[in-house]
Amino acid sequence: MSRYSIASLIRHGLTGHKGWKPAWRDPEPKPQYDAIIVGGGGHGLASAYYLAKNHGFTNIAVLEKGWLGGGNTGRNTTIVRSNYLLDANAKFYEHAMKLWEGLSQDLNFNVMFSQRGVINLAHSKGQLEGFRRRGNAMRLNGIDAELLNRDEVAAFVPELDVSPTARFPVEGGLLQRRGGTARHDAVAWGYARAADQRGVDIIQNCEVTGIRRDDRGVVGVETSRGYMACRRVGLAVAGHSSQLAAMAGVRLPIESHVLQAMVTEPVKPCLDTVVTFGAAHLYVSQSDKGELVMGGDIDGYNSFAQRGSLDVIEHVASCLVALFPQFSRLRILRTWGGIMDMTMDGSPIIGTTPVPGLFLNGGWCYGGFKATPASGWVFAHTMATGQSHELNADLSLDRFHTGRILDEKGAGPYPWLH
Ligand SMILES: Cc1cc2nc3c(=O)[nH]c(=O)nc-3n(C[C@H](O)[C@H](O)[C@H](O)COP(=O)(O)OP(=O)(O)OC[C@H]3O[C@@H](n4cnc5c(N)ncnc54)[C@H](O)[C@@H]3O)c2cc1C
Repeated sequence: MSRYSIASLIRHGLTGHKGWKPAWRDPEPKPQYDAIIVGGGGHGLASAYYLAKNHGFTNIAVLEKGWLGGGNTGRNTTIVRSNYLLDANAKFYEHAMKLWEGLSQDLNFNVMFSQRGVINLAHSKGQLEGFRRRGNAMRLNGIDAELLNRDEVAAFVPELDVSPTARFPVEGGLLQRRGGTARHDAVAWGYARAADQRGVDIIQNCEVTGIRRDDRGVVGVETSRGYMACRRVGLAVAGHSSQLAAMAGVRLPIESHVLQAMVTEPVKPCLDTVVTFGAAHLYVSQSDKGELVMGGDIDGYNSFAQRGSLDVIEHVASCLVALFPQFSRLRILRTWGGIMDMTMDGSPIIGTTPVPGLFLNGGWCYGGFKATPASGWVFAHTMATGQSHELNADLSLDRFHTGRILDEKGAGPYPWLH
């Protein structure tokens, strides 16, 4: 497989771009693998890539029931940040941030990582104090954080209505300049291509329908394309985590909810950062195509439907207009939904399960896209060694038994508050 470069672009340009090879193979499944990862989203593909690259595995398959990135990876609002309060989360997400910073070079694929800044708006003195505390905790963990007053927010986001008569007057904000966005499809495609180059079999249209066990643990998976033997199976299926774990007899502290997103019609560049409005819940940025990309809360009931509902669209749109009255004339162009795997403390689960040989990467709640590189990195370590990496030691499933929960928001076991 040739490397993408300016030289290869010119070479193919001279021959009418007819010589490009597919970015990854379409192999037939083998009867046996050393490691199988279920789920061809960013996390599954990243895990396979680091299993091959960091741990020397050569006989790996990623099984995807649909198409690569067709789950939450291709449905999210692409916000990347590491502005967490608790040490375990801060260190894990900061490792992801450092990997993001070199990812396009590492994968030889432009993931369009744009460090345009992420600003959390504060609308009261109490909220700003909370941000001061979180910003200080971030800095103690070596993560960039800046507390802005109202005038500084106005200078950073000139389009924002910061007048005292605004519906939600702005008091200040917490800014992480190294945060931003990345192109979600490119993340899946980049990891897929790089994993394929290291010999990983990426098998699409292959649904896992059962997990076989013996008295020593997992022995293989049943799929819509036949049985595959394997003593090391990793689940990276996001909103389907509870269903897949149930196939192996494991019950997870996870609820599935729909999270919606939407875009407006495209307009000229007008918003060059990511704005989040936690008080009423909106996050918005502008895509490279010019659309405003927005999201808000999950739907309050459990569902596996990948579609939206009008009350959330109305809520998100009204938040946008409260902050940016001039956007009121934009039309919503598309809306969609993804299935979120909400844990009871709002933090993810990456690690071993009670079934030997079965590993879990899930419980990403609202924010697993930003975690993708670190999630793959530590999941690969755990699958290869059977042990946690220091960065996922606190993200284990057994924290719900031991009580060492990571309640980042202090919201308790209420998924919609995370
Ligand atoms: C609307 C929305 C907005 C979001 N915004 C952000 C954001 O701004 N920033 C952020 O960090 N995160 C965000 N997220 C969360 C983020 O998208 C996810 O946490 C992340 O993409 C999860 O990646 P994944 O690879 O684990 O899952 P997915 O991309 O969902 O991949 C899992 C794959 O498993 C496959 N699968 C399921 N069951 C089976 C089976 N039985 N057999 C084989 N394959 C199976 C699915 O088809 C799917 O492709 C958002 C999510 C949504 C829905």
